[in-house]
Amino acid sequence: MLHRLNEVGLADIVEKLDACQRLSFDDGVRLFECPDLLALGWLANREREKRHDGRTYYNFNIRLEATNVCVASCLFCSFARLRPGDPGSYTMSLEQAWDKLRERAHQPLTEIHVVNGLHPDLPFDYYLDMLRGFKRIRPGIHLKCFTAVEIAFFADLYKMSDEQVLRELQAAGLDSLPGGGAEIFAERVRRKICHDKCGADRYLAIHRTAHALGMRTNVTMLYGHIETHEERVDHMLRARALQDETGGLQAFIPLAFHPDNNQMRKLPAPSATETLRVHAVSRLMLDNIPHVKAFWIATGVDVAQLSLWFGVDDLDGTVQEEKIYHMAGARTPEAMTTTAIRRLIRAAGRDPVERDTLYNVVIGPESPDDAPVLVQ
Ligand code: SF4
Repeated sequence: MLHRLNEVGLADIVEKLDACQRLSFDDGVRLFECPDLLALGWLANREREKRHDGRTYYNFNIRLEATNVCVASCLFCSFARLRPGDPGSYTMSLEQAWDKLRERAHQPLTEIHVVNGLHPDLPFDYYLDMLRGFKRIRPGIHLKCFTAVEIAFFADLYKMSDEQVLRELQAAGLDSLPGGGAEIFAERVRRKICHDKCGADRYLAIHRTAHALGMRTNVTMLYGHIETHEERVDHMLRARALQDETGGLQAFIPLAFHPDNNQMRKLPAPSATETLRVHAVSRLMLDNIPHVKAFWIATGVDVAQLSLWFGVDDLDGTVQEEKIYHMAGARTPEAMTTTAIRRLIRAAGRDPVERDTLYNVVIGPESPDDAPVLVQ
């Protein structure tokens, strides 16, 4: 494969990686323009194996979107409804939210992942009580809740600082932040696709603050719409710079744009090859972020499986009840059993490892694939 990388003019990048040198902005753009996808994947896989060998992580989690009422108007969003009472809008009562966890008392879940619309009328106590209730029902569960965009919204709505919001949520049980809301950091793109929500600098500052408070977080990147290769690389480098400062990022998660039922429906969805390329370049550019995750709900199960040879070492988890992507036309299942995930990883020639949110091993690769409890 090295001769193919030479042929496409990437020998210098191979040399840098061999010498453990960091890739530059220009290197990243060249990687996106490399015509040989398999050579690019081979290189990304080499970096993946340096860190993780064949280990491929997933977790036993549940996804919860407690409300889709949202005052923002992101063009790519098919999930949000502007006002309470608008057709298709919903807001769960706290009991309904807690029931989602109670109903799964038989499942060895390790994480709840909560993201919501930006609801203008709910009191802060709604969110604090939600977290406290989850911990009451299952004290050991990890609460990965509220994007940085939600944290910024809470701070503005309830007239608090971002840090105060994070501290109060943490005291109520918040353990970490998911990476949603990053979209593309470049101002040109944000102005066009998500002009009325928290900007890139504040998003990154909130993650910085969360890290200082001892929480771990992830970063996402929404790709396949109007962004350029340069803007993707810029996005990655901003995440890399934050990680140099804090070391608090666990995973980088490229998210494929889905065009159904939103204001960007004239654009095509990114192709499978584009998805593989984005994940591969992410692995190569982000030398300091341990994990690159393919969110199988967004990429499709088959492409997520292929991505395990293109730099990806994590497939998220069982998910269960995802709404945001399915309202945007995702045709993936809404849940996978842990057995299905393990078999999918094994069939790709990789070693399945169930992890918790902080990447502690729950079930190692040596366990048989039908041992874990099935999602019912
Ligand atoms: S992406 Fe999030 S912030 Fe934007 S409209 Fe949808 S729910 Fe609201």
